[in-house]
Order: sequence, then structure tokens, then C-alpha cells
Amino acid sequence: MNKPAELKLGTVPVWINGKAVSTAKRYGEVFNPAIGQVTKRVVFSDASIVDAAVKAASAALPAWRDTPPLRRARVMQEFLSLLKKNQKALAAIVTDEHGKTLPDAIGSVQRGIEVVEFACGIPHLLKGEYAENAGTQVDTHTVRQPVGVCAGITPFNFPVMVPLWMFPMAIACGNSFILKPSEKVPSASLRMAELFQEAGLPDGVLNVLHGDKEAVDAILAHPGIHAVSFVGSTPIARYIYETCARHGKRVQALGGAKNHAVVLPDADLEFAADALIGAAYGSAGERCMAISAVVAVGAAADPLVKLLEKKAKAIKVGAGDAEGVDMGPLVTGPHRDKVAGYVEAGLKEGARLVLDGRGSAVPKEGFFLGTSLFDHVKPEMTIYKDEIFGPVLIILRVETLDQAIELVNRNPYANGTAIFTESGGAARRFENEIQVGMVGINVPIPVPVAYFSFGGWKSSLFGDLHVHGVESVKFYTRTKVVTTRWPNQGVSDRLRSGDTSAPGFHMPTLG
Ligand code: NAD
Repeated sequence: MNKPAELKLGTVPVWINGKAVSTAKRYGEVFNPAIGQVTKRVVFSDASIVDAAVKAASAALPAWRDTPPLRRARVMQEFLSLLKKNQKALAAIVTDEHGKTLPDAIGSVQRGIEVVEFACGIPHLLKGEYAENAGTQVDTHTVRQPVGVCAGITPFNFPVMVPLWMFPMAIACGNSFILKPSEKVPSASLRMAELFQEAGLPDGVLNVLHGDKEAVDAILAHPGIHAVSFVGSTPIARYIYETCARHGKRVQALGGAKNHAVVLPDADLEFAADALIGAAYGSAGERCMAISAVVAVGAAADPLVKLLEKKAKAIKVGAGDAEGVDMGPLVTGPHRDKVAGYVEAGLKEGARLVLDGRGSAVPKEGFFLGTSLFDHVKPEMTIYKDEIFGPVLIILRVETLDQAIELVNRNPYANGTAIFTESGGAARRFENEIQVGMVGINVPIPVPVAYFSFGGWKSSLFGDLHVHGVESVKFYTRTKVVTTRWPNQGVSDRLRSGDTSAPGFHMPTLG
């Protein structure tokens, strides 16, 4: 195996055709957010590096595409066992570059591993359909074939899990893949590529590029790439979707979120508050499924705000690898400042600041911010309209479940939502009427399991198909319909019936 020696010297290379490459015209900086220092530099890919990756992926494609799915699944099983062995080491890389706590990082790696477990079942998932005698002596069947060279562009907040939503399923389906993780957290993807090579994946089937807009634009414009999966913020997701459509590429682009939790007065408020605190401030609020807006219905509001204030105050902020820490730093200094700016904006707009994270005791070094809590937030306020993506929880008050449903449905984001109630009838109505892709009932972060698909609605997803689960098999394959008649049987039939051969000019019909 080609070990990236440069990594020790602080350069994160790209991975093309099974080899680490560190030479580039541009490099970016990688921080450890818990100390606020640059710890590595990362290769920034330009069009020529992207082209080299596409050439490697295209060259590897024919043999991998024709490798029987069962053999592809065996490589996947090896990869799975290496991921399990390296779960803690991968999580440590996540904590080092993203900042989230180690237990949280381990959990996120686990969710990614579960997608690889699902990908191991690919032979069954790729089976087509067959209809005998679709017409007289005519049989019809479908085959699922890989799309070709696929690319994945991923965000900073899940450096292992989100890439694992994409490339294992794409590769299991027989495609080759180019992964472009967030330039803020580049090392985990590189490590996964090494592990996949160790598992027996042929060189060139998985390539890893790093970089910013220049690399992304080169991917979107490259004619050798046939499908693009994207996860990130809504403005970039929209841009990716539109640009891919213009270049004739298949695309799924998952965007940002503003996830509401509706709390009804009949809910177990202590239970709901515990769930909401974890969902709002876990991973410092840098989760696409974080609950960032609580909709407190009627009499639930006053006691719920008191509980949330008490529990949010108790959150321990510190370095992600320190013992007993609940919440780590934000990913970068500018992002921390942006989130702090929203706290100021909320105050100016007239919301009641119950807890101000800017004043709380947090480590001086690093990109830390304490927990903030706003009450009496109105839908027209910036802190409601924007995705803050930080440790800021806002509370809106409404009088009825009708008003709560209407509020959630009016929001342009529609990734996840939750309801807390003891009433089955209310929960069922919420499930039925809410226009959101993933719904939790007394579950604050309703992330589906790997064998279901993940994705939102409206401005949280551009494209038709969600990631992982059976929808990803549809995304990473094209269906071909084959209609078959064997002439020797047809000839003997005609001879038997005394029919003579003649061209047909009408639309063939069944029967
Ligand atoms: P981002 O949109 O800034 O970046 C995502 C990717 O796009 C990165 O690889 C980045 O290099 C690239 N990129 C950034 N700016 C670009 C530009 N101008 N042109 C082309 N490419 C560009 O997102 P982020 O800050 O890394 O991640 C946080 C966002 O991701 C949040 O909005 C969060 O909700 C979202 N997210 C969504 C999901 C989901 O499932 N819907 C999951 C995780 C994160």
C-alpha cells in the first residue's frame, strides 16, 4: 500500500489511482478547532488534478462494472471489517479536524458503517424484473447497470458519515467514484480510501480530491463524470443542481435545514427537554438534523423554557477529546463569529435572550462558543429565517397544533421535524400533514437507518432521489428494459400455421 508520507509532514494529499499525490499549485489550511491552530495543509485541486482523477476512474470502470456483484460485495465486506477495526481512529480524526466530541464522532462513524453493511447486500438489490410472455412468445426483463463515473461533494460536519452515504453504494453498484470532501476536514476521506484499497478495491475505483470552488466547478463541468451527489448548504446545493442539469449530469443535492420540534402540552416535558437539549446543542448545533427551533404549543411553553434554560446552562463545553465534555468548539473562527453575530441579531430584533452563549465560560483558545437560548421568537426574525448551524436554540410560541403545523409547513426548509406528545391522534395528524422529509414522533433527531433513505423536501433537497437505502440503488444505476423473441421459435410457429413472413407497419400490441 502506498502510504502518504507527506501526511506526517502536514500535507493532506489527494488520492488518485491508488496513490497519494501532494504536488499542487494551491494548498488550503486545516485547523484543529479546539486549539484554533493550523495543523496541516491540504492540496487544492485544479482542473488538471480533477482530469487526472477522472482518467483514473474511467480506466478502472470497465473491469469493475463487469466484476460480479457478489465479488464486489466481498470487497465491501472486507472494507466493512476494516472500518470497524478503525472506527475509533477515524473518529479521532473527525474530532481533531471538526471539533465534535469523541463519543459523538464514534456514533457518527457507526452510522456510516451501517450504510456499508447495507451495501454488502448489493447482489440482491441489483436484481431486475422479468415477465414471461409479455407478448406472444415475447419476454421482457430489466437490468440495472451502473451510471459510470460518479462524484460526491460533501460538507464539513460529518467527515466520515456523509461520504459513506455515497461512495460505498455507488461502488457496490459497479460505478467508479471521485470524492471531494470538505476542505475543512479532508483527512478522514483519505484514510477511508487507504482502507478500501487494503480491502482489495482495485486502484482508480475510488479517488479522493480536495479543494474549494475551483475543484467543484471542474467536477461539475467535466464531461467524463456522469452523476453527482452533493450534501451541503442550500445555496450551494441549488447551484450544484442547476449546473449539473446544464451539463447533462444526473444529480442529487441535499441542502440545509431549519428543523422544528413541536411540543404539545400533554408531552412529558422533562423527557422532551432532555431530547431537545441533545438535539439542539450536540455537535455544537452543526448537524443538518439538529433541532434549531422549538414550537411550544399553549401551556407547554413556560415550563419547557424553564427546563431548557436549566439544562442548557449545565452543558460542559471543551475540547472534543477531553473527558466529560458535552459540546466541542465550532469548526472555524469565522463560523463561530457568524453564529455569535446571530445572537446579537436576535437581541436587536426583540427576541428574549434567555441564555447568552457569548458570555459563558469556555476555553480561551480555539473556536468555542457557549449555548444560547431565545424565547418569544417571531417568524419574521433572522434567527428564525436563517439556518444558524451553531449552538443557538430558539423558541416560538403558538396556541394550537394547527398553528404549529402551519408554521412548520410555511418554512422553506424541510429536512427533519419532530413532535412530542402523548396523543397518538395528534402524532398521526402531524405525520400525515407535515411537509417534511423525515419525521420524529417523540424522537428528536429522526435520522433513518441505512436501509431506509435519507433526505428532505423543498429547499433541503434538489433532485428526485434521496441518499442510501433503495433510493441510492436507483440513483447509482440506470435501468435497461430488454424485450426478447427467439426467431427460431417464431419461424417454426409460422411454418406450423402456414403463415408467410411479412413486414409489420402498425404499432405492436400485446397478446
Ligand atoms: P457548504 O455548502 O459550504 O460546502 C459543502 C461542499 O461544497 C464542500 O465540499 C465545499 O468545498 C463545497 N463548496 C462550498 N462553497 C462552494 C461554492 N461556492 N461552489 C462550489 N462548491 C462549494 O456546506 P458546509 O458548510 O460544509 O456544511 C454545512 C451545511 O451542510 C449546512 O447547511 C447543513 O445543513 C448542510 N448539511 C445538510 C445535510 C443533509 O442531509 N441535508 C447533511 C449535512 C450537512
